[in-house]
Amino acid sequence: MSTTIIPEAESQQSSGPAAGRGSSVPSSGASARMAAIAAVTNYQPTTRPLNFSETPTQDLFSANVFSKKVMKDRLPKPIFKSLVATIEAGEKLDSSVADIVASAMKDWAIEKGATHYAHVFFPLTGATAEKHDSFLSPNGEGTAIAEFSGSQLIQGEPDGSSFPTGGIRQTFEARGYTIWDVTSPAYILENPNGTTLCIPTAFVSWTGEALDKKTPVLRSMEALNRQAQRILTLFGHEDSAFVASTAGPEQEYFLIDRHFFFARPDLVNAGRTLFGAKPPKGQEFDDHYFGAIPERVLAFMLETERELFKLGIPVKTRHNEVAPGQYEIAPVFESANLATDHQQLMMTTLRRVAEKYGMACLMHEKPFAGVNGSGKHVNWSLGSSSQGNLLDPGDTPHDNAQFLVFCAAVIRAVYKYQGLLRAVVASAGNDHRLGANEAPPAIISIFLGDQLTDVFGQIKAGGANSSLEKGTLTVGVDVLPPLPKDAGDRNRTSPFAFTGNRFEFRAVGSNQSIAGPLVAMNAIVAESIDYCASQLEKATQGDPESLHSAVQTLLSEVINECGAIIFNGDGYSDAWHTEASERGLLNLKTTADALPYLQAPEVQELFEKYEVLSERELESRLETYLEQYCMTVNVEAQLTIEMARTMIFPAAIRYQNELAATCANLKLVGYEFDTDTLDVATSLVKSLQDSIAVLDKAMSEDGAVDLVDEARHCCDVVLPAMSTVREYADELEGIVADDLWPLPTYQEMLFIK
Ligand code: ADP
Ligand code: MG
Repeated sequence: MSTTIIPEAESQQSSGPAAGRGSSVPSSGASARMAAIAAVTNYQPTTRPLNFSETPTQDLFSANVFSKKVMKDRLPKPIFKSLVATIEAGEKLDSSVADIVASAMKDWAIEKGATHYAHVFFPLTGATAEKHDSFLSPNGEGTAIAEFSGSQLIQGEPDGSSFPTGGIRQTFEARGYTIWDVTSPAYILENPNGTTLCIPTAFVSWTGEALDKKTPVLRSMEALNRQAQRILTLFGHEDSAFVASTAGPEQEYFLIDRHFFFARPDLVNAGRTLFGAKPPKGQEFDDHYFGAIPERVLAFMLETERELFKLGIPVKTRHNEVAPGQYEIAPVFESANLATDHQQLMMTTLRRVAEKYGMACLMHEKPFAGVNGSGKHVNWSLGSSSQGNLLDPGDTPHDNAQFLVFCAAVIRAVYKYQGLLRAVVASAGNDHRLGANEAPPAIISIFLGDQLTDVFGQIKAGGANSSLEKGTLTVGVDVLPPLPKDAGDRNRTSPFAFTGNRFEFRAVGSNQSIAGPLVAMNAIVAESIDYCASQLEKATQGDPESLHSAVQTLLSEVINECGAIIFNGDGYSDAWHTEASERGLLNLKTTADALPYLQAPEVQELFEKYEVLSERELESRLETYLEQYCMTVNVEAQLTIEMARTMIFPAAIRYQNELAATCANLKLVGYEFDTDTLDVATSLVKSLQDSIAVLDKAMSEDGAVDLVDEARHCCDVVLPAMSTVREYADELEGIVADDLWPLPTYQEMLFIK
């Protein structure tokens, strides 16, 4: 029996206009794509251009910040002095000043149009949270007055019961308090319809446990200062100016048009594409890196920077990154706590301003498979107002000896706590980046550069003689050649690199808060400095003459014990993996491997000893991060199933049907049809369906006894099953008729601007 099969195109024509590249109203699943492309190519700016000559940038800097200058102008002298002592010297806050500060702050904010104030805090999700309250209170006589008391400034009580706490709070005892952080200035957040006074705060439970990212940053900074002072004292610097850790985070991100973004459920819900074949032209030409910045993007950057400037965030550099559609922004470094708050504001601002320019800012570590991911290089050092940067090699031998002690302390810290450094950058997103031959490997090592490697090499070999430039090298006694600021060449493959006067931790993910990495660096270096100071104090016993030989002994001991962490070679190579394992270095490949390291006894001991995190606080963090990992993978898996079933499968069978129809119709009129493509399509459709079923089953198998177990299951079973679905879907993308394909392609998202 022969049936007449009506060709697909014809059947569609009866119900609507034909699909196709050229037609304006396609009837296939590709309509969203076509509409997006049309919208992108017709983009017109909707905002008034900024005029920088009317308001020069320098007039804008910190315009919305309750800065030291504003405080000086508005506060009585003793109160101002007391605040500055807390901010700059880390002295205990005198809470009796709060009422006066609050009143000055309120007046200032109201002059700037504020109607509300908000305690801003940083929950463990890595996001920024804020609770807004009006300044107005009814006065009982039918009117209201603007009020803001010292106690409202110092403490708030948001109902933060839904924030993750890793078991510290039950929802029925959900009291959490926000506490004013004087060291991070209040600022005004603008909105076209009014402004809000924002007060950075720490977020703690009613039992006093940290529920946030800020509290441990502050605690770790104090620990680092305490220990660093001991080394400075040994070297004769007794002024005790606060030694702060400093941070300069370089943020990478992607920009794509919002129309593409909203046509991709995976980008909207997971922040990354779960499907998408590699474009014919990727980044291999390197023609995007440092290339001219497209006009719309540059307009966005100018406005972002202007907004950040108003908030007192010292943004400095901007450029195109390696991948098409990828960019970077970096501020000048600041004290770690301030840098952390500013980094959060920077991410919020990037997202907000991108929307205004019709774009979506993607901060995910790997929004596009096969295309470079995004990291956040956290430049880290420590220094004080009197001593400057303590990781600056300087040019006098005396300073060099001191520098070498601090540097050795960092080397020892990274060696001893590799696992912790790996754990604090672990996340579902960053797993797609670390170790993927474009970002640092999951093995933590230090790049020291030729100069320093040479110096430490000599110390290891006895330390007495050096042939570096002129003179001999006996640390601190004879002439040590001044180290150049740029310690040799760059190495882009190292996760932790010395870059002249600071270390650059490059394994941090673009979407992560920098708080965790900073807490870890501050704490491990504090522990190491503690160790070094104790050794030196013991060896010198108050005899400053013996300091230099004690330093010599200490340095050679550290380099002998911990030198295995130094690696200047190619971190992407397979040979490094083999060598690293021979050296006994950890290689924690995934989040499921790395996170449990937070429970290692030495990590617990470290945080407890330096009062950075209690055992319970640490445990709650581990639990929260594991939970987040599992939730992320589960959402992605659900999305994969949904998109595969409702978008990709339908497109595939429509095309399959079209091919089958053509085949049948050709046969009717006596032609042969080469069924190769139909065969491939049919087999892929089958494989797609089967792989969806496997993923579905992987998700419903819930044998996990605890979160570590569940994370393992996500990592070892669910993620590979997702990849398989993707593989078939991406292959289908390569054969299904373009006008039927429902998802904006990589090529469109990355190249149509
Ligand atoms: P590159 O891309 O060459 O690494 P960038 O200029 O993009 O350099 O970023 C370097 C970052 O390092 C900047 O944020 C800079 O302020 C920061 N930095 C410089 N000195 C220090 C320091 N002492 N402590 C912390 N960060 C620093
Ligand atoms: Mg860099």
